[in-house]
This record gives sequence, C-alpha cells and structure tokens, in this order.
Amino acid sequence: LEEQLQQSQKMDAIGRLAGGVAHDFNNLLTSILSAAEFAAEGVPEGSPAREDLGVVREAAMRASQLTRQLLAFARKQVVAPRAVSLNALLLETERMLRRMVGEDIEIACRVSADVWPVKVDPSQLQQVLVNLAVNARAAMPRGGRLTFETRNVRIAPDAAEAREVSPGEWVLLSVSDTGSGMSGETLARIFEPFFTTKEAGRGTGLGLATVYGTVKQSGGHISVASELGRGTRFDILLPRAEGAPVAEPERPAGTTRGGG
Ligand code: ADP
Repeated sequence: LEEQLQQSQKMDAIGRLAGGVAHDFNNLLTSILSAAEFAAEGVPEGSPAREDLGVVREAAMRASQLTRQLLAFARKQVVAPRAVSLNALLLETERMLRRMVGEDIEIACRVSADVWPVKVDPSQLQQVLVNLAVNARAAMPRGGRLTFETRNVRIAPDAAEAREVSPGEWVLLSVSDTGSGMSGETLARIFEPFFTTKEAGRGTGLGLATVYGTVKQSGGHISVASELGRGTRFDILLPRAEGAPVAEPERPAGTTRGGG
C-alpha cells in the first residue's frame, strides 16, 4: 500500500512539472515546425539543405507528439465517469485497434455476454485499450495475437485478501499478447512514469503510467503476468457500476433524439 502511495505521489509531482514545461515547449515547437516548412519551400528539391530541413521537421514533429502525450498525462483531465458497457466500448474501439496494430496481428475479442456495467470515463478507458494495444504491437514485431477478454468476477470475502482486492462484484478486462514478454526487472518498473525500454525517441514511458492512473482513478486494480518469449497479460478489475449502462453515445448539441 505504501508503495502504491509513493507511486501515485511521484506521478502527481511529475505530472505537475511536466504539464507546465510541455505547454510552453509545444508553442516553441510549433514555431520551429512552421519555420522549417517555410524555409524548405525556398530551397531546391534534392539539395542537402532541404534534406536537413526535413530532419528538423521530423524531429520537431516527434518532439511535438511527445509533448502532447506529456500534456495528456499531466492535464487534470475532466473525467466524466458513467456507467459503461465494456463490451460495447470494446466493439466501438475494435476497428480503430485493428487499423492500428496492422495485418500481422490478429485481434480476438472474447467477451462474455451480460457483462455488468462499470463506472468509468469512456474516453479514458478507450485510451487504456489503445495504450495496451500499442505496447502489444511493439512486443510482436513478427506478428501474433492480441486478445481482449471481459468477464464478471465475484470476489468472496475469504478470497479477497489473497487477491488483494476488496470483496464484491467486479468486471475483469484482460488484454494479452503473444509477444516478447518481459524480464522481472522490467516488470517491476513498467508503471513508473518515464520508464521505457524503447530506444530514444520511440517511447515516452507514459503509456502504462497513464493506464495505471486511469484504473486507480476508477477504483480498480491492475496486475500483470509476463513470460519472456511467450507473452504478457494485463488483468484489469473495475468495480461494477450501479444501474444500467448509458448505451447511447452523447449526441452533439442541436440534434434531437427523435420521436417528438
Ligand atoms: P513506452 O511504451 O513508451 O515504453 P509504457 O509505459 O507504455 O511506455 O511501457 C513501459 C515499458 O513496459 C515498455 O518500454 C516495455 O519495455 C514494457 N512493456 C509494456 N507493455 C509490454 C508488452 N505488452 N510486452 C512487453 N513489454 C511491454
């Protein structure tokens, strides 16, 4: 518990710091980017200077993407938790995920029917799915299978302690891949902000810190099982929400629901 507290305090501090810097930094990058693009227009195609400007542009774009991620991580986003159907959300996101992971990776959704609604911010949860899928893809450079699973879980009081979860009704979301897996050293640090094993410029180390934050914010739990050379599974438990899921997506202002 103490470790968890430390972890979340660390994330808070880093988040505040990063947010302040990232905002100003992003403005600077926008200037660099537009100046590089403008300058390139005045330079003949194929010349070394044009290539250099291309490098500047690429780097600025990558840096800008990084700061955007930092901002998203740091921003105290307005979270709007509501009763959500995990299955519906998964279905909604599946297309995008498929496009994201590419053809070499098969996506399997094993959702059990009548999964209880959970109380989360749907766009935050979508981000969780995306972050986990991005990592899974990186762990499967030669293809593989990415599996999403949902299931109701009832935890009895006598089983609660062993699972380090309070007794009650939960919904399990499992995300597993058949990728590279992780060593024990890596596994111990994956939720730390800025921890990454990816080469410089490729990873921010914020993906799983964000996932962790969302799950905790939603009153849930996350655990990981991983085996080198075999793959990784993330198990996320979210508390069952009262009431029925709000099935209908929010409509833009001005449209009516019809029938009247
Ligand atoms: P990033 O993806 O930017 O490195 P993350 O916080 O998302 O940051 O992940 C941290 C690290 O955890 C990754 O660099 C990788 O070493 C490890 N990791 C995360 N997910 C997986 C996975 N599915 N398989 C193998 N390693 C993983």
